[in-house]
Amino acid sequence: MTRVALHQLRKVYPDGQVAVEAATFTIESGELMVLVGPSGCGKTTLLRMIAGLEQASAGTLRIGDRVVDQLPPAARDIAMVFQNYALYPHMTVAGNLGFGLRLRGMGKAEVARRVREVAVLLELDDRLDALPSALSGGQRQRVALGRALVREPKVFLLDEPLSHLDARLRVAMRLEIARLHQRLGATMIYVTHDQIEAMTLGQRIVVFDRGRIQQIDTPMNLYRRPCNLFVAGFIGSPAMNFLPGRLRRDEGRWWLDTAHGAVPLAEAAPWPEDWRGREVVLGVRPEDLAPATPAEAMLQAYVEVVEPVGNEVFLNLRFDGRPLVVRLPPRLMPAPGERLPLRFDPVHVHLFDAADGARLE
Ligand code: ATP
Repeated sequence: MTRVALHQLRKVYPDGQVAVEAATFTIESGELMVLVGPSGCGKTTLLRMIAGLEQASAGTLRIGDRVVDQLPPAARDIAMVFQNYALYPHMTVAGNLGFGLRLRGMGKAEVARRVREVAVLLELDDRLDALPSALSGGQRQRVALGRALVREPKVFLLDEPLSHLDARLRVAMRLEIARLHQRLGATMIYVTHDQIEAMTLGQRIVVFDRGRIQQIDTPMNLYRRPCNLFVAGFIGSPAMNFLPGRLRRDEGRWWLDTAHGAVPLAEAAPWPEDWRGREVVLGVRPEDLAPATPAEAMLQAYVEVVEPVGNEVFLNLRFDGRPLVVRLPPRLMPAPGERLPLRFDPVHVHLFDAADGARLE
């Protein structure tokens, strides 16, 4: 079992592009850690630095109890699965699985034993003699995973391994990777831009944006207490609703003054008095907004588009010139054009500073 510790890892490309800025965190032994962020945020660069495929510009990396900064990839005891998992087309599944081991001079019998073991684990044992062209997308992906597994590395690095699969297969493979991780108990670092993949797979998630770590937490903590506007908007689907405005305390309660009217907030919120007049962004998850009677309405929005998705309905509304999404049970289906009074439980709102996006509450 092996932990991976990054300390102030930084990458500046020769053209001056800072791809990763001072990344410090530890992936515990046996943990499945997901790195997630939008395209270009630096997650692949970070993974390649861990693999040794990219030289860090500064910082230190430990794998187990060794500092590996100066070690080449082959000496780091890691295996990487890429999004373009090119299999050798002229080799059978068994050939592809065993190729790396033969290259290292491992004996025939030992190669065959390991290939067999991994093929059984990945349910490929009846396809060992097939060529890649005869496999389904999911089976090919499993061979790619298998090539990493046969090496019995201490750490697995996976770079968007499911991105080329269709939606159904992606869900199935995601489950397989989760099962595999549970069975092997290996340390895994998994890179994706897909927040749902991150939420369902990660024991902990590192959220990245523009080369910087935004938050490291469990999926549920990221969802419940995002530390800034970026994480709040990135994690969750449909995304969190944002209402910018100015805080006011009046008539014994807090209000958010928006361009479109005042929205009542928590009555007895113990917020500091100097928040009066503060420019903020109010965040409300789509499931925390609900239709209200006119008397209890906290804001009025217009229904634009109704999207039934089977077990629930997404209402796309407009308030204050901005889009709002509400998630409802399917029995409630207002018509487009309708004016809808809405309420939310002030306990479930998120408040962010409008200037720097940091969470206030
Ligand atoms: P994606 O999900 O699109 O793969 P990513 O989050 O993995 O994106 P990186 O590939 O790590 O992001 O790239 C981070 C930044 O560094 C980007 O702005 C990219 O343009 C830049 N970059 C990546 N590789 C190089 C390189 N070899 N030379 C210069 N800049 C690079």
